[in-house]
Amino acid sequence: MAETADNNLRLQREQKEGIPEGLWMRCPECGDMLFRKVVEEALHVCPNCQYHFRIAARTRIEQLVDPGSFEERYADVEPADPLKFADKKAYKDRLRSEQEKTGNPDAIICGKGFIKGRPILMAVMDPTFMMGSMGSVVGEKITRTIEAAADEKLPLLIVSCSGGARMQESSLSLMQMAKTSAALARLDDAKQMFISLLADPTTGGVTASFAMLGDFIIAEPKALIGFAGPRTIWNTIKVELPDGFQRSEFLLEHGFIDFVVHRKDLRSEIARLVDFCVK
Ligand SMILES: [Zn+2]
Repeated sequence: MAETADNNLRLQREQKEGIPEGLWMRCPECGDMLFRKVVEEALHVCPNCQYHFRIAARTRIEQLVDPGSFEERYADVEPADPLKFADKKAYKDRLRSEQEKTGNPDAIICGKGFIKGRPILMAVMDPTFMMGSMGSVVGEKITRTIEAAADEKLPLLIVSCSGGARMQESSLSLMQMAKTSAALARLDDAKQMFISLLADPTTGGVTASFAMLGDFIIAEPKALIGFAGPRTIWNTIKVELPDGFQRSEFLLEHGFIDFVVHRKDLRSEIARLVDFCVK
């Protein structure tokens, strides 16, 4: 919520300053004005301070796989609204407008691709669709991808980028935590490797289930990774958190994750880990 407010403020300021939308963008970290094309060519990373911008699932897949190698799966799985949920807006209307905005049925894209010639199954969360929240479709598609990795004896990559559970699906959303975790336990029995890549932000029920169950857990620099956000923690236990708490580097230092990897090095790092495990 606070973040949306920040974004809105920034947008208002930019509009007031007469900066043309689209061509230029401001880095939220260092405040520099950046030529959008330059940022895109640098894999959506600020060339000045290395801030990693949030990217949509399809952009992420394009960045990771060998060109033209991605074959999408389960694209026909569509969300339903069994609870007939409504907050400020009916859930089914919210879904429709997010689908129109993103061109995707829900907050995840799955399929098979090649990374530096190594075949891999991947499930990639989409922060542009309802903040990558995990509802039944996200859980179902991740589970199918995990099961396919076990059946086809392929390495698995899940890219997390999520605000957590999807409150509009209530306990159906929470059940996805158990479902994906159980599927990963079976993948472990089948002795197939799972690389979990955490992007900014990875929070809530996603952190509390599959995201933290990787054989290898990689995070992008300075990504927010945690269960509850700093404000929620403050409101609940009134404890001041240490500097950099819930950022990748802090979690690495405290043993929660294995590597912090710059976006430009992800392909080589994933290929290296696959070679390390796959005979
Ligand atoms: Zn910057």
